[in-house]
Amino acid sequence: MALGEFELIRRYFERPRARADVVLGIGDDAALLDVPAGRNLVVAVDTLVAGRHFLKSAPPRSIGHRALAVNLSDLAAMGATPAWATLSLTMPGVDEAWLAEFAAGFFSLAEGHRVALVGGDTTAGPLTISVQVLGTAPQGQALRRSGARVGDLLLVTGTLGDAAAGLEFLRGTAAQSPAAQWLISRHEYPTPRIELGLAMRPYASGAMDLSDGLVGDLEKLVAASGVCAVVDIDRLPISPALLAQVGASRARELALAGGDDYELLLSVPPARLEALRAAAGIVAVNLTEIGHICAGVGVTWSMNGAEYSPVSRGYEHFSSA
Ligand code: ADP
Ligand code: MG
Repeated sequence: MALGEFELIRRYFERPRARADVVLGIGDDAALLDVPAGRNLVVAVDTLVAGRHFLKSAPPRSIGHRALAVNLSDLAAMGATPAWATLSLTMPGVDEAWLAEFAAGFFSLAEGHRVALVGGDTTAGPLTISVQVLGTAPQGQALRRSGARVGDLLLVTGTLGDAAAGLEFLRGTAAQSPAAQWLISRHEYPTPRIELGLAMRPYASGAMDLSDGLVGDLEKLVAASGVCAVVDIDRLPISPALLAQVGASRARELALAGGDDYELLLSVPPARLEALRAAAGIVAVNLTEIGHICAGVGVTWSMNGAEYSPVSRGYEHFSSA
């Protein structure tokens, strides 16, 4: 590598100490962090592999943003406050223009959420980025997938299917309208719902983030909770851009099975719905009620009052499809 590993880390990944709870950051064998008393440490890690989780042609700024965003989304779903991150970067060689853009994408999101990069690893190999995020939640109060109860209402944040449509536009050759560009930005720069995650924590019973598509992800939530769900497909939140670009029927399919939205799916007891809505209003995130939790197993999808079978189930690694 042209630029030494040490110099590379110093130039692109060391930033002035952003948090008082970082006792020791980048530069030693390990980082030292002060975990506040009375809180649980909440930890998530996700790996992005070139050509699998992002297009080989993806802008490096977007790769840096997404590598952090997908992990922040996991913390959001737990109702946790993010604090620290580590970055394991495997790349074929040192490309300084690439590194500068990657770091810009990573740090602009990190700084927005007061996340400090406290360590990592740098190796040569096929482009692979693994980010770990650490945060905290009040002891015993993090939200789980297993918390949904019979009678709870089911809600989602934002709009669904935009990122999957954005990816289709990136793969295509068609000229890109402003609406298509907005869908592409939903894929390249997803917004982790950290503020909503914190706001919902006192009210929601269970939660998860939507990374693989609603159909597959909701099945995980009901299985973890030991319940079933009924969802009204007509109520799924669809953005005006998605509707305009692909039409109602394709928009519905993408909202059901498209991945990478990084919106939150949550269950809430009806008695707490109003308080949840007020809390969501304060952080200016749209919540849409899409169905409810029932006693039994699996998910029933309905459209215009009739039962509906989603055609595609979303993304699964190691599946034969
Ligand atoms: P060691 O061989 O002891 O693991 P390294 O040379 O791998 O040390 O790393 C030196 C320091 O730089 C460590 O503090 C490590 O956490 C940090 N570091 C290495 N790579 C990165 C990276 N990509 N981003 C942030 N910090 C990194
Ligand atoms: Mg190391």
